[in-house]
Amino acid sequence: MLRVEELHVNRGRTKVLQGINFAVEAGEIATLIGANGAGKTTTLMTLSGLLPISSGQARLQTSDGSYDVGATSPVDLVRAGIVHAPEGRQIFGRLSIEENLQLGAFLSNDKARVARAITDIYERFPILGERRAMPAGNLSGGEQMMLAIGRALVAEPKLLLLDEPSLGLAPQITEEIFDFLEELNREQGVTMLIVEQNAMLALELADRAFVLENGRIVLEGSGDELLNDPAVFEAYLGVG
Ligand code: ATP
Repeated sequence: MLRVEELHVNRGRTKVLQGINFAVEAGEIATLIGANGAGKTTTLMTLSGLLPISSGQARLQTSDGSYDVGATSPVDLVRAGIVHAPEGRQIFGRLSIEENLQLGAFLSNDKARVARAITDIYERFPILGERRAMPAGNLSGGEQMMLAIGRALVAEPKLLLLDEPSLGLAPQITEEIFDFLEELNREQGVTMLIVEQNAMLALELADRAFVLENGRIVLEGSGDELLNDPAVFEAYLGVG
């Protein structure tokens, strides 16, 4: 579904991505792990069209066609199915929960479908439904993450990009969110690329994993393979 080849991306004068190659197949959960500053967020921002590609390419292949990410506008990428739940959630605190969810549908004319998608989210996360008219800024961090994922789902992603879904959340809430992501993948077949600093969590969930170090992919394998790899353990999973 997604193929990234020799991708180079600069931010200012910094060469952040230095020729990365990876692929995500339809129906998979893939994860990109790595230390702070390795280039994980940059990768997701590039895939959603928010940062220009210096060289190399990223291509999305769906049942509707094939898209060159570098030559497609961010709005057309959403239309094509790449939907990004960004780091820090980026919800609109003064808008209501329901209004935030409706923003996910900015490209849809099918009101009945959008209403159904929003109802599904309220069923899965009743707390959002109970408070639908309240400002989203009143929600806790975990609830805001649920809302950010919900808003992304309203846009009907084919490839859901998630940046640090566990950031700042209590372990129990993180577990609830990861359980939901697994269910979403299993039941609706949503393909995901998840960026995580919590490597253990991400590897447990992922079918396929890539380790990014200083803008290069240094290791890849199944989630299980990397969980059991002593080098990964030492660098990312060890205590302390
Ligand atoms: P984090 O978990 O901290 O977000 P990351 O792996 O996602 O880490 P990026 O946010 O992609 O890393 O950042 C990669 C590099 O790009 C870092 O060296 C960072 O200093 C640099 N960088 C990030 N944002 C900008 C920016 N707006 N302008 C210039 N350089 C930036």
